[in-house]
Amino acid sequence: MAEENVDVCIIGSGWGGAIPALRLSAAGKSVVVLERGRAWKDSDFRQTVDPRYVLSLFRIDTSADLKATMVTSQALLGGTSPLFSNVMLRAPSLVFDRGDDEGNRYWPRSLDRALFDPYYQRVENDLGVVPLRWTDEGYPGLNCQDGEAADHTWDLVPKRGYAFAKACQAAGYNEVSPVPVALDHRCVDCGWCTMGCIFGAKRTPDKVYIPAAQAQGARFLTEHEAKTIEPEFLSDHYKVHAVDMVNRQSKTFVAKVVVLAAGAMNTPVILQRSKFRFPRLWDRLSRQVGKKLSANGDAAFAVNLPVSEAMLASETFRGKIIGTTCWSFLEEFGFTLQDTYLLNSALALVVEPPDGPGWGLEYKHFMQALATTVNGIISMGLDGDDGEIRYNSLTDKGHMTWRMSTRSAQLYRTISAKVGEIVKAAGGQILKTPLAENRIACVHPLGSCRMGDDPDLGPLRADGQLYGYPNVYVTDGSALPGSLAVNPSLTIAANAERVSEGIRNNFPA
Ligand SMILES: Cc1cc2nc3c(=O)[nH]c(=O)nc-3n(C[C@H](O)[C@H](O)[C@H](O)COP(=O)(O)OP(=O)(O)OC[C@H]3O[C@@H](n4cnc5c(N)ncnc54)[C@H](O)[C@@H]3O)c2cc1C
Repeated sequence: MAEENVDVCIIGSGWGGAIPALRLSAAGKSVVVLERGRAWKDSDFRQTVDPRYVLSLFRIDTSADLKATMVTSQALLGGTSPLFSNVMLRAPSLVFDRGDDEGNRYWPRSLDRALFDPYYQRVENDLGVVPLRWTDEGYPGLNCQDGEAADHTWDLVPKRGYAFAKACQAAGYNEVSPVPVALDHRCVDCGWCTMGCIFGAKRTPDKVYIPAAQAQGARFLTEHEAKTIEPEFLSDHYKVHAVDMVNRQSKTFVAKVVVLAAGAMNTPVILQRSKFRFPRLWDRLSRQVGKKLSANGDAAFAVNLPVSEAMLASETFRGKIIGTTCWSFLEEFGFTLQDTYLLNSALALVVEPPDGPGWGLEYKHFMQALATTVNGIISMGLDGDDGEIRYNSLTDKGHMTWRMSTRSAQLYRTISAKVGEIVKAAGGQILKTPLAENRIACVHPLGSCRMGDDPDLGPLRADGQLYGYPNVYVTDGSALPGSLAVNPSLTIAANAERVSEGIRNNFPA
């Protein structure tokens, strides 16, 4: 079996993996990154919802009772981000300061929003994050934040965002603002962001951090799956055992520092599998690994919003996936809402007519009538961390269980009521939501290997290091202590910057 010595072995190449790869290679360390997915060119992406294509991109984890579904990706260099909806929001202060039902602070005491701000700023600068702009043309009455005529339109809020803002206003909720995005002028508003951008307009790890890390000498081994980590008995080093998925060859990397960044659905599984294979070597691993998986309070609603004449030309199937955030419910109820794009074919799958069959001429007319007014609304909120991921040695995989807590049930009830209020104020209705069947569908799994003030609260110290295992770090979404009530990428990236700085400053001899 091939064995190679490196300073740093990183598992995963999303925000959590690509940023340490850049910062540590720039500090002169030899870095190898193991990534299950492969490198995609812009021209490899397709603008289609052909299920074969969609399933080649996304990984779908479902709980055994089918009540919870998590959507992530393991197909691409750059992690899930090449398929994301581009929104880069800072987490609000109240997220860092919140307490759990037992009165413990979710986040370690030493971490708060002020400490994160410089790291947020660094990521925003490196990616060139820009806020979308309102334009008042055709939308009188909306608060126009940027009155100047611009010579470009690629960064405008999609019309769906106006329809949503108008509906919120009609219900008396006025705190709606355009989202900041990691996009550039190549965006043509085609609306296919979540199938991969054929125009190269996204500012994601594969476009920004990975090429920069490669220029510093970091090696990204695609189609390589890390299986286990074995702490070396006689040294402070760790062996990462991996498989080259193309040649079915086993490889081992002996590293001074290991960074786990395999995503919230995978990082706990690698640790649990390692403990299963090397029980004595991992006997100090916190029992919290895999527990408290949060769905970030994600919920989705297909709605009909016939808000005004202008909205009838809402260009439902065009524009950025997400344009605006409504902040009006954050302080009191702990959630935010955003408008979102609904893929037309997905819509046909999920929306049934209130009466009459879901096929034939009647159905065609029903769908036609919706075409200019249909909209999506999504929520993100402070849920109760209801999931758990457990490694099963028979399947050699992680399996998710889900039990809706009182906190989450209350949150989702309030979200449904408020979305109902907004939609009603606009003269529309909720067409479909998985919440109606007590199901949750989430694209932002978080917190399954989180930081905490002691190992009973989370497996990681505030500096991102595993309790009991010096120089093993976790930097992906699993490290964040629970829901952020907003889209998580910017916080995952900022945390990866912060932890990378600590690794660099305390690098083992
Ligand atoms: C459709 C969609 C839209 C989204 N839109 C937004 C948005 O607008 N804004 C936002 O903030 N967030 C968004 N998200 C969420 C966001 O994309 C993720 O939260 C974020 O990318 C997670 O980053 P990460 O580094 O934690 O993990 P990931 O990006 O998932 O990276 C983990 C990587 O590890 C690899 N890996 C896993 N196991 C192994 C192994 N054993 N060996 C080697 N490699 C392994 C995976 O292949 C993957 O590449 C969206 C998600 C989806 C699905």
